[in-house]
Amino acid sequence: MAKILVINAGSSSLKYQLIEAEKEECLAKGLVERIGLKGGLHHYTRTGEDKLTIKKDVGDHTQAIELALEMLLDPEKGVIKSKEDIVAIGHRVVHGGERFSESVLIDNEVMEAIRENCRLAPLHNPHNLKGIEACVKIFGKTPNVAVFDTAFHQKMPPHAYLYALPISMYKEHSIRRYGFHGTSHFFVAHQAAKALGKPIDELKIITLHLGNGASMSAVKGGYSIDTSMGFTPLEGLVMGTRCGDIDPAIPIFMMERLGMEHTEINTILNKKSGLLGLSGISNDMREVEEAAEKGDENAKMALKIYAYRIKKYIGEYTAVMGGVDALVFTAGIGENSALIRKMSLEGLEFLGIKIDEKKNVEENGKFARVEKKGSKVAIFIIPTNEELVIARDTYNICKVI
Ligand code: AMP
Repeated sequence: MAKILVINAGSSSLKYQLIEAEKEECLAKGLVERIGLKGGLHHYTRTGEDKLTIKKDVGDHTQAIELALEMLLDPEKGVIKSKEDIVAIGHRVVHGGERFSESVLIDNEVMEAIRENCRLAPLHNPHNLKGIEACVKIFGKTPNVAVFDTAFHQKMPPHAYLYALPISMYKEHSIRRYGFHGTSHFFVAHQAAKALGKPIDELKIITLHLGNGASMSAVKGGYSIDTSMGFTPLEGLVMGTRCGDIDPAIPIFMMERLGMEHTEINTILNKKSGLLGLSGISNDMREVEEAAEKGDENAKMALKIYAYRIKKYIGEYTAVMGGVDALVFTAGIGENSALIRKMSLEGLEFLGIKIDEKKNVEENGKFARVEKKGSKVAIFIIPTNEELVIARDTYNICKVI
């Protein structure tokens, strides 16, 4: 049985899952937090059992993966006998640039290309690389595969990915829409097609990945033909702490008129805006919903703006696809907030989008269809599973080498 280790390495945290590839079963998963900081934590869960939390300082990503391996090999709590049981390792890599439209086996040349893309994703790719380098050190010749967040969007047509800037910005500096969360959009779109019993290339699907980061995609003929995140993950929807779409002149105004430095502006747009900035309460949707329920006006407005932005994108994507067959809500908010699903779809009955309010609440958090009888458009809640896509791609690539 082929066991695949899936690694998602961030700046100070590292998530992992060990997946049995043929059965597509997660055997164990974990999260190492506060890498390089005091107060390191390792959460580990063997499937079907309670989560264990171990306190231990972790110096770097190599130590984090060693810690994960120690647990996976533990005679009592582990799931494998030797590290050779792991046949391949799949890595989430945020930015593949224009070079990668699918997952690839990592060799020196691919490493170099991922390194080059650090200039496009300075907050992510360097840490993804650290995860890969650590695995090469620890696992030696075991193959590593890169699965890119941008890959699914690489078939977007130029009229969707080009900004109306001087064309030299694209040609000389690679400034264009790339899109992110591709693995999740791909997964839930395919799940929806399967549930509808139709080939995906005959469908028009709008996928809504609403997590702390949030993006939407128009999926037509099996490809993402447009998506709301852009050159960076800052564009598009209102997010936990990111502003999404704003007039690009605003940061210039903040610099020139308010005397702010670019680092301060960057922090405001990425870390202090979105739900947190609007509500002044939290970036966590649950807390914003609670405050709105208790009558907080800022929280109520934050929810309204959040849902309004989603509605605008549904209109856009329905227009560019020439219709829509299915909407798919996924990720933390998409799967678990009946309120946001309801608010986002209110008033869209004229497009044939009719949500069943009872089902919407009852089926919260589950794989379900929640449209009303007679709705022309299917409305799905589908839990995302990016790790499974990474494990599948890794297995399929490594099977043939
Ligand atoms: P993710 O980034 O996919 O983990 O999603 C995180 C977001 O999901 C946070 O804003 C959470 O508040 C939100 N979330 C999780 N559970 C719920 C829930 N039951 N109701 C509303 N939002 C939720």
